[in-house]
Amino acid sequence: MQLETRGRTASGIRKARVHGGGPYTQLLPMILLLGTIFAGLLGLAFGSFMNVCLSRWPEGESVVTPRSHCCHCGRTLTWWENVPLVSWLALRGRCRTCRAWIGWRYPLVELTVGVLWALSAWQGLHRFPDLTLQLNGSNPYIALILILGYMILSWVLVALAALDAEHLWLPDWITWPGILLGFIFSLLLFKFSLNTVLDRYNAWPLQQRLFFHFAFKAMLGIAAAAGLVLLIRWIYWLIRRREGIGLGDAKLMALVAAWLGFPCALLSFVLGVAMGALVAVVLLAVPAARENAESWGLNKLPLGTFICIGGIVSSLWGQHIIAAYLRWAGF
Ligand SMILES: [Zn+2]
Repeated sequence: MQLETRGRTASGIRKARVHGGGPYTQLLPMILLLGTIFAGLLGLAFGSFMNVCLSRWPEGESVVTPRSHCCHCGRTLTWWENVPLVSWLALRGRCRTCRAWIGWRYPLVELTVGVLWALSAWQGLHRFPDLTLQLNGSNPYIALILILGYMILSWVLVALAALDAEHLWLPDWITWPGILLGFIFSLLLFKFSLNTVLDRYNAWPLQQRLFFHFAFKAMLGIAAAAGLVLLIRWIYWLIRRREGIGLGDAKLMALVAAWLGFPCALLSFVLGVAMGALVAVVLLAVPAARENAESWGLNKLPLGTFICIGGIVSSLWGQHIIAAYLRWAGF
C-alpha cells in the first residue's frame, strides 16, 4: 500500500511557507536537506555492508568475521580501502596489491542503496507535521513508518536483485521475512492514516471494521500476486513440460504485493517481464551470442532481478504510473 506521499508534498510546503513564517518553516529546507544527505550517506554505508553479505552469503560464510579482504589475494583491506564508492573510484576498481578486478557490483550496489535511502528520507520527511504544519493531515508515526519502511524495502530489493543476477538465487530466509515485514508495514501505515482521519469523530467500531477489511484485502493481494506467478508457471509447464519461472519469483511477487499492494506488484511484474524481454532480444542480437543460438534460447535470465527493479520503480512512481495508465485507458 502506498498513500499519497508523493506529489502533493511540495504544494504542502509551499502553503506552509505562505501561511506560516514560524521557526519551523524557516528551518524546513535545512532539515530536509540535512536529513536527506544523512540518509544517503547511511545508505552508502549499508550498501557497502550489503556487498560483504552478497559475497559471503552464497559461500555460506559469516558476514561479521573475518574483516574485509581481497577475494583474490586475501590481503585484509585498510580502512581507506573500505570507504564506499570513493575507494572503488580511487583504486579504479582494482585491488591495490594483486590488481584483481573488484567488479561493477560494489559501486553499483553502494550507489543504488545510497540514492534510494536519500529518496526515502526526502519523501518521508515531508510527512512530519511540524514540517508541513499539518496541512497534509499527517502524523509523525506515518513519516517514521514511511522512512524506515522504504529503507528496508529498498535494501531487500537491491539484495535480492543482486543475488538473482549473480546466482539465480532468491533465498527463502529473505523473501519470507520480507513478506511478513511488508504486511506489518502496510497495516501500520493504514492504521495511523485511519487514526489521523477518523480520530476526531471518535468512530472506534468503524475504524475496527475498516482495519480488518484492509488486512483481509492485503492478504488477498499477497496471495493473488504469488498465485499469478504460480499460474504462469503451471501453464508453461503444461505447454513446454519444463520449469519456466521459479518458485522464488512467486515469493518475490508476494513480497512486493505485501509492501506496495497488488496493483503495484502487477506493475512490477509487467515492468520486469518487459525488461527481461528487452535484455533477451539484445543478447540474441549480439553476434557472439548468435553462434550458439540454441543454448541462448534456453539460457536462464534472472527474472527476479527484473521484478526487483520493477518493484523499486513502483515504490517510487507506481501510483503515478497506474493513475496515468487508468486515465489513458479511459477508466
Ligand atoms: Zn588482491
